[in-house]
This record gives sequence, structure tokens and C-alpha cells, in this order.
Amino acid sequence: MSKRLVIGSRNAKKVKEMKALIVPDWARPTWADSWEIVGLDLFPNAPEPEETGETFAENARIKASEFAKALGEWVLADDSGLTVDALGGHPGVYSARYAGSHGDDSANNAKILQELFGVPSADRGAAFVCQLAIADPTGAIRLEAGGQCRGRIIDSLEGSHGFGYDPLFLIPEYHQTFGQLPALVKHQLSHRCRAFEKLRRLMSHI
Ligand code: IMP
Repeated sequence: MSKRLVIGSRNAKKVKEMKALIVPDWARPTWADSWEIVGLDLFPNAPEPEETGETFAENARIKASEFAKALGEWVLADDSGLTVDALGGHPGVYSARYAGSHGDDSANNAKILQELFGVPSADRGAAFVCQLAIADPTGAIRLEAGGQCRGRIIDSLEGSHGFGYDPLFLIPEYHQTFGQLPALVKHQLSHRCRAFEKLRRLMSHI
């Protein structure tokens, strides 16, 4: 019998990436036959958990557990964001709402550019961080995995692929930002792909 796993995010672009990464075209895991992966769109009345954690891991656990209890379903949640060395790790857990309103990517990017104005390229190191958590229908956390990807913040937006801070995040080895690189390349390098690699290996244990 197949179990159902709900992707606990309302960010459509992130959900698309997460669906592609949990059961990737290039390496379909054996456990995939026993799970049906669905989105939160099936549950229009699901509550919005408050992200009160101080770390990505805490927020991922809160989201997975709250959604799972409310829906009575297995839920996979992620908490992710950008940490900029020259900003002491900010925006961190505030990445989605850095400039004020939740999910305003252009305002968030503008704020990062303004704060890094005049900072030389060598000091603009940053990392994308992703933490994943899976909760069972009682809300208990059953799996966790994390991943990071290092890069550099450039001084203007480049590219229109991806979402969030992607057009500012340069992968030095490729001389291109995540906004310029095709999704397939981002899926081989990103913080989210690294966290999912670990999660996929653990899925057969639940
Ligand atoms: P969350 O939905 O609370 O995890 O917020 C994540 C925020 O971090 C997003 O709104 C983006 O601003 C940023 N973020 C996370 N992952 C990525 C990514 O892969 N590319 C660009 N920005 C990201």
C-alpha cells in the first residue's frame, strides 16, 4: 500500500524543486513506489505554522510537525535561506521576510545589495542552507537532513531562473549565478539537492 507524503510549503517554486529532488529523474529510488508525493494545494484549509525557531533546523521541525498534526498526514518541510559572511550570517532564518513582507524577493535582493554596497568581492562570501524534516501523522519528527552550498554575492541581479536570492548568488566555478544556470545544474549543486541526497538515503528506514 502506498503512503502519502505532503510537501509542506506554499512557495510554488520551492515545491517544484522539492518534488524534482525527492524522486529525481536521474536516480529513482526503490522506496519511491511506496510513496505518493503531493502538494499542500490538496489541503486549502491547512494552517500556516509560525516560524518561531532560531535555527533552520528548528523551523523545519516546527513546520513539518504542525502541518502533520493539522492534516493527519506525513509531511516533509524545509527551512532554507541565505547566510552572508559580511552580514554576520544574516538574513539567515529571516531570509523570506528580510525586507519586511514575506516572500518579496525583489525587496529582499535590494536590501542585500544595499547592505553590501562597497564591500569588496573577496569579502562577499555566502552560503545557502537547507534543513529538511519529515514528521509522521502524529507530528513526531522521523527524519532530518541538511545541506549547504557556498558562493558569492555579486553587485547586481543576473538571470531569471530559480527564485529568491538566486540572481545574486554566484557559483564561482561556473562564473554564473543560480539565476543564470539551468535548473538541472542548480539541482546538482544546491543546498537543497545536498540535503535531499541525504534524505533520499534515509527514506527507506521509515
Ligand atoms: P522559507 O520558505 O522560510 O524556508 O524561506 C526561504 C527563503 O530563503 C526564500 O524565500 C528565499 O528568499 C531564500 N531561499 C531559500 N532557498 C533558496 C534558493 O534555492 N534560492 C534562492 N533563495 C532561496
